[in-house]
Amino acid sequence: MNAEIIAVGSELLTPQRTDTNSLYLTSQLNGLGVEVVGKSIVGDHAARLEAAVRLAAARSEILLLTGGLGPTEDDLTREAVAAAFGLKLLFRGDIAAAIERRFARMGRRMAEVNRRQAHVIEGAEVLSNDVGTAPGQWLRHGNGVVALLPGPPAELHPMFERECLPRLRDWLPRQVIETRVLRVTGMPESDLDQLISPHYKRFENPVTTILAAPGDLQIHFRARCETVEEASALLQQASGPIEELLGDRVYSRDGQPLEAVVGELLRRRKATLSVAESCTGGLLAERITSVPGSSDYFLGGFLTYTDRMKQSVLGVAEELIKEHSAVSGPVAEAMAEAARRLTGADFSLSVTGYAGPGGGSAESPAGAVWIGLGEASGCEARRFNFLGDRDRVRRLAVQAALEMLRRKLL
Ligand code: AMP
Ligand code: MG
Repeated sequence: MNAEIIAVGSELLTPQRTDTNSLYLTSQLNGLGVEVVGKSIVGDHAARLEAAVRLAAARSEILLLTGGLGPTEDDLTREAVAAAFGLKLLFRGDIAAAIERRFARMGRRMAEVNRRQAHVIEGAEVLSNDVGTAPGQWLRHGNGVVALLPGPPAELHPMFERECLPRLRDWLPRQVIETRVLRVTGMPESDLDQLISPHYKRFENPVTTILAAPGDLQIHFRARCETVEEASALLQQASGPIEELLGDRVYSRDGQPLEAVVGELLRRRKATLSVAESCTGGLLAERITSVPGSSDYFLGGFLTYTDRMKQSVLGVAEELIKEHSAVSGPVAEAMAEAARRLTGADFSLSVTGYAGPGGGSAESPAGAVWIGLGEASGCEARRFNFLGDRDRVRRLAVQAALEMLRRKLL
């Protein structure tokens, strides 16, 4: 059984409002083992909405609509769904009376426009709304269902959980969705796909997708089966060989980000870390300290952006910078060594580079970044040539620094 969601509201087609209801509904449906195979946002426009309902109901068994159940002229969901199925809208005196009572409790009279909310599609069940005036509706058609749900999240959530979840549980065949995530760094998306696609293409279930962020790839496997055991077995069949193929390029199997994985490796060794950053301007320390409990292993860091600060704070020799330039292996090593010496940390990371778009030199253009790694036995530095804008270069640098340390700790 598949589902589609239609979020109704012209405001959702502007940059001011985001459709969050469909995310909520997707997570609820996934919890029931139902895959969302499509979703759309449609403005307050009767004909477009009717067409969207027809299309969605024709190809998916479950259709959830949110929004457009208000009392005003631009709230068209009831009319559009009725029209899409060729059904009448019937006035229900009991619903109008309930809305009137709701207003009376607030010491107000019901406005005439609220009578629109008392119209129910013929054959539909009414879903009660404890929080607002708009009741929802539940309509069976052929071998599918359509639910009309309110737009305000505070009304949608309780109505869905109280009225829709039990109905869906009764109606759905037994099915579960299980997911598995592998996180990989240190290789481009295209290389990863080339390497693993021959394996995952053999499976229609689980479905495999690759999500790419700068320097960070996630391989998502989603299996849909009748039982958890079946789904887990399928996930293992599909992901096992891929995991083996990728080896230690897989840094996480439970969704944990790289900074948390590195933190856990440090904690296990009872080792400590400090940093010295130039072009990343504190981003590396930010990532490390975003992990709760990072004070167990992270001692602190230095943000030395100018040459002079590298000299005065870290004690990097002026001649070293003159001879090699600030973006160089020897300077990255000296920065890492100083961060360790000044904090007493077991390990240190340093970053110095040209984030761009300007700056750099013939041999070190924008995107050239040196990363230093210090430990008791000495320092090493590696050069990277990142492509992309300033933001991307800086993110890639942080990711590469964390990955260098992870490999050291493995
Ligand atoms: P409506 O039921 O269309 O009158 O929507 C009432 C209010 O609910 C809107 O002004 C939004 O603030 C909110 N809302 C409607 N649809 C959504 C949605 N898809 N996601 C988040 N909020 C929504
Ligand atoms: Mg609306």
